[in-house]
Amino acid sequence: MNKAYILLGTNLGEKRDNLQQAILSISTSLISIVSYSDIYETAAWGNTNQGNFYNQVIELNTELSATDLLQKLLQIETQMGRIRNQKWEARIIDLDILYFNNEIIDTEYLKVPHPYLHVRRFTLAPLVQIASEFLHPVFNKTNSELLENCSDNSEVKLVSKIEKMY
Ligand code: AMP
Repeated sequence: MNKAYILLGTNLGEKRDNLQQAILSISTSLISIVSYSDIYETAAWGNTNQGNFYNQVIELNTELSATDLLQKLLQIETQMGRIRNQKWEARIIDLDILYFNNEIIDTEYLKVPHPYLHVRRFTLAPLVQIASEFLHPVFNKTNSELLENCSDNSEVKLVSKIEKMY
């Protein structure tokens, strides 16, 4: 069984519904969701001329390989109406693999751990909530340590506490 952490992001439409719909689509016979963070709101990163994002991190167990998991996530993004135009455009849903076990994967299509994980507070804050002691296999630091050392000072605001499974 593989353990993976996924970052969900959305800044278009009904953001809370988008997160919920994505989580429902991810949860299938081949993927079970083990835990999820609360929902956080952050200003758009990279291209600041767009709406704020809602972000959430989930932990899942799956028999799928990392490549198959990525395909599944890309399929969900497409099903939910995501159109890829330019980098950092507004999006209904963005699904990124943060970690896949403690594997280091570096192919054209998949980079794990996610290359921006350690530089983005909007990723680290929800991640620390559910996996504070999980070790980054490249830096050999826990997520808590990465957050402490993170120089991104953008505000990450708690918007919604999750109390039950969807
Ligand atoms: P973006 O438009 O920023 O969501 O980038 C999506 C593309 O990044 C996908 O088509 C993937 O092939 C690629 N990619 C590379 N590493 C990852 C990762 N860890 N998680 C999700 N997508 C990834």
